[in-house]
Formats: sequence, structure tokens, C-alpha cells
Amino acid sequence: MIGDMIDDYNRFFSSNGKREVLVVDDEVVNREILGNMLSREFNVLYAVNGKDALREIRDHKSTLSIILLDLKMPVMDGFEVMEALRDVDDEDHEEFEDIPVLVMTSDEGAEVTCLEAGAIDFINKPLNHPDVVLARIRKTIELKESIKTIKLTERADMTGLLTKNFFYTYAAQFDRHHPDTHTDAIAININNFHLINELYGRKAGDSVLMHMAAYLKEVRDKTGCIVSRVEGDLFFMYMPTGTVDYGMLSEEIDAHFDKFPDIAVRIRSGIYRDVDKSIEMERRFDRAVQAANTIKGDYGVSIGYYDAETHNRKLYEARLINDFDDALAAGEFQLYFQPKYNIDKEEPYLASAEALIRWKHPSLGMISPGIFIPLFEKNGLIKKLDFWIWREAIKYMGEWKEKYGKEITLSINISRVDLYSHNLVSYIDENLSRYGVSKDNLYLEITESAYTENTDQLMSVVRKLQEDGFRIEMDDFGTGYSSLAMLAQVPVDIIKLDMRFVEGMHESDKQEKMIRLVMDIAQYLGIRVIAEGVEDKDTVDFLKSVGCTTIQGFYFSRPIPEEEFVAKFTD
Ligand code: C2E
Ligand code: MG
Ligand code: MG
Repeated sequence: MIGDMIDDYNRFFSSNGKREVLVVDDEVVNREILGNMLSREFNVLYAVNGKDALREIRDHKSTLSIILLDLKMPVMDGFEVMEALRDVDDEDHEEFEDIPVLVMTSDEGAEVTCLEAGAIDFINKPLNHPDVVLARIRKTIELKESIKTIKLTERADMTGLLTKNFFYTYAAQFDRHHPDTHTDAIAININNFHLINELYGRKAGDSVLMHMAAYLKEVRDKTGCIVSRVEGDLFFMYMPTGTVDYGMLSEEIDAHFDKFPDIAVRIRSGIYRDVDKSIEMERRFDRAVQAANTIKGDYGVSIGYYDAETHNRKLYEARLINDFDDALAAGEFQLYFQPKYNIDKEEPYLASAEALIRWKHPSLGMISPGIFIPLFEKNGLIKKLDFWIWREAIKYMGEWKEKYGKEITLSINISRVDLYSHNLVSYIDENLSRYGVSKDNLYLEITESAYTENTDQLMSVVRKLQEDGFRIEMDDFGTGYSSLAMLAQVPVDIIKLDMRFVEGMHESDKQEKMIRLVMDIAQYLGIRVIAEGVEDKDTVDFLKSVGCTTIQGFYFSRPIPEEEFVAKFTD
């Protein structure tokens, strides 16, 4: 596109490849001097007075590179020529504007008047220094041509809006001139633009873009903001904060598109308000685009605002993902153990424990699994981490057995994503035999919500694990949407009442009844119940009264490092 337009422009130059110069002078000597000086390099046209000149200019308006204009001439003088060229009502006015006029004068006092009249520069008469004259002509043409090229390229976009690079340049220029002005970066997208192209054709797509651009030009002309079509259906605006009400702007754009009766056009905008001027212009608009993307597919909302908090969280998450491999290799991950206590006797006693992962990040400090586990579940890293954790856990069990003669029962957490691993069972089996640990002592915790998803595949994997001899604990029971009836159908040996379920117990009678009911049903089905997240004695007593015999919670112990845990069972 840009290339085409520049080619078009170059085509304007005369066919023999020389640029065209018009010499306007009534004195034949001057015309001859200039002709000799210029004809090697230029195609030279001549005019003997202003009137003659205007005719030539009009005939050659698209090919003329420069006009050398004498001031004092009969019939019509140089000033009158310049006045005619500046006549905005003339149909050729725009083209005239692109042709620079170099005045030839011996009258130094005329300089200011000439500049005001529209001349770009001067050559002094008499023309004693051909080198200077030639250099000045070349320079003037070059300057005018670069301006013209810039004009063409900056608006080379079909819509006539600024192209991306020029947009960034002008936005940066705006900042330089208004360093203290707060500004907003705005990105506007057309929803499902590719569908418009596909359904109605490219032409229709183009006309949607033109229609959009026409509106944004109105906004630009009213507010003085900087507007660009950056690419495809993406438009950028850079404007001082508070210039317009974005809600209204968005509604107006929608209304503007009501004139497109056959095509439903809806836009979404992303706004990064009061940009941080210490970051690059491109980054500011990245943020505006991100903000627009946060509302993608959400048709009730048309504006997304950039939120520093969300952004920082995303950065933090990206950092965790990035650091993961090195962290695993560097031993930053560590297993903690949270004991489970049995309360079926007079004195509570240690029954087993849950292995819980901790990440001791060298610069971010201790990171909770509540933060990185869901993140790693989303991007699949969880499998690598969990496989590592399971092996560590089994290795510890082997060590405890060997060193202290204790076969401690451990629970490990299995993410729902892990259940899709084809080698889940074989991997655990291999490690059990490698470290001489019995399957009876390894429990698998699977979160309740995996059960409620209840896809056949998931359930069959869990059933397979159970048939293989693993004990299955349903973790976080009471937080998902499982029904009590479901308990009879799914593979489960133990349910872990989640702390939120247990907490509510004090608050309502109903909740207490629920817990009693769960206990009854579990007992009937032969499922054991563990209460998790128990923090006080009242709860322990209550749970004991309803027949719950195993408790995990801060009341007895927080998750602790290995040495501390070992101390608990070797005392
Ligand atoms: P979860 O499996 O339900 O683990 C119990 C969580 O409750 C643990 O948090 C534990 O520290 C906390 N907790 C235990 N007793 C109490 C209490 O009395 N009061 C309070 N306020 N909290 C208590 P943690 O260790 O932060 O783990 C959070 C979740 O992260 C776990 O929930 C589990 O879903 C996941 N997770 C932890 N380790 C692993 C792992 O090795 N693999 C996988 N896949 N997930 C893990
Ligand atoms: Mg658990
Ligand atoms: Mg739990």
C-alpha cells in the first residue's frame, strides 16, 4: 500500500527521469543563464510573465518540482502569481501547495514580504554563483519531496488515519510538548471482525473500518487527540485524561454503527487511564489492548479498564512459571507434613499425615501452594511438580521405615490434571517398590470438584486406582456441589470434610444437622470421615460426639517440616 503510493508519486516526475523546473522571468538573459545552469539536471520550462507562468503551472501541476519566480514582470508580477497559487478556492489549490516557489530577487528588503506571500526561499540576483543556486534548488526539492513522502506514508492507511509508527512518533512528541498532562491510552477493537469479513466479504469489512475511521476522525478533530489504525480492526487513541467520557464515546460509536443496518457491529475498548509515562509508548498500548481483551466475549460490557493489580498478578504468575524449572532443580520446593490425629481414645494420637508442598523462593519468600498450584494446574506444570512430590513423599516413607522402623501412612494430593496422565499408576508403583513402601500406607487425595465434574474418564481412572489397592480420599468435601447420594456411586474410601463446611457448624443448627447426616451416610456406606481445618477444642469435641475419629487442623498441628514431623512420631 505504502509502496504503491510512493511509486505513484515517483511516476509524477517527467518521463525522462528528470525533475521539472519552471523558470519565470521576463528577461531573456536570465532565462538563458538559468537554462544553461539547469538543463543538464532538469527539464526546464519557461514563462515570460505571471500569466504565462500560471498557465504552465496548471498544465504541469502534477509534474513540476519547483518554480523559480522573478518578482518584477509585466502583465502579472511574482506576487500576484504567489497570491493566485494560494487561492484556496482554486480547484488545483492542493496540488499548487505541493510545488515550492523559489523567488529570484535583487531586492533584499523583499524577503519578508515574499515569505509571507508563500515563497519557500530565495536566490539572489544577479545569478553570480551557479553552484549556490543549484544547491539551493536541489535542497528545496529534496525537502519538499520528503515532506510529501511523509505525508503519504503517515496516512498511507486506507482509512486515512495515521499508521502505527507515525502514531507512536506523534504520541511521543505530544508527551515532549506536554510533559505534565495526564493522558490515556485507548485501544478499540471491532468484535468478531473476521466474521464480518467472512460473512459479508472484504469490501464490507473495509467499509466498516472506513466508517469507524470516519467517526474517530470526528473525535480527533473535536478533541485534538491522536488517532491511528494500527492494524486490522485495531484502532489506537492517545488523549489527555478527562477529555471525553469513555462510556459515552463507546455508546456513540455503537450508535454511529446503527447506520449499518445489515451488519451488527459492536466494539470493545480497552483503556489504560493516566498512563505511566516512564514506560515505553508501545507498552502503554499493550496494556490498553490487554484491557480490551479482558472483556473479549463478554457482550454486556464494551469497555475494559487496565488494572495495575491484575497486571501485577499476571506478571507475578508469569515469573513463577518462568522460575519453576530452576526452582525444582535448585531444591526450592520442600515437603511439609500436617499430622492427622485420631480421637477415638482418651488421648488424641498421631495417625497419619498429609504431604503439603512449600516453595521457598530465594527472592519472593515462602509461596503458598494456594497460589502456585492452581496456576500450574492451568498450564500443565503441575504434573511435573506432583510427580516429583510423590516420589519425595514415598522416599521419606521408605527412610522412616528404615531409620525408625515406623510405617507412617501419608496422603498425597492428586490434581485433577494428573488423573489424565497415562503413567500415573505405574509411576507410583515403581516408586513404592523402589523405596520398599507398602501401597496400604499411601492415600490419594482427590478434590471433590473432580468428582462433580464426573466425566466417565476421570471416574474410571479413580476407580482403577481404587481397584489397584490405593485408598482414595475425597478432599475438600462440602465445597463443591456433590450430593450425598453421589457418595454411593463414586469410588471413595475416605471423605475429608473441608474447613469451610466445619466452620459453618457453629453458626447454624442446619449445618450441624448436615454434618450429622454426612456422618450417618458415610458410616452406612463404610466410608471413613476426616475433618480438616479444625482450629479449636469445641469443634474437636463436637466432631467426636458425632463419631468423627480423625482430625487434621491447626488445633493439633500446622504443616511442619520433616525434622519436626519425625520428632512427633519418634518421641
Ligand atoms: P488441601 O489439600 O485441602 O490442604 C489443606 C490445606 O488446609 C493446607 O493448606 C493446610 O495448611 C490448610 N490447613 C490445615 N489445617 C488448617 C487449619 O486448622 N486452619 C487453616 N486455616 N488452614 C488449615 P496449604 O498447605 O496451603 O495447601 C493448600 C492447597 O494446595 C491444598 O489444599 C491442596 O489443594 C494444594 N496442595 C498443597 N500441596 C499440594 C501438592 O503437593 N500437590 C497438589 N496437587 N496440590 C497441593
Ligand atoms: Mg489435600
Ligand atoms: Mg482439603
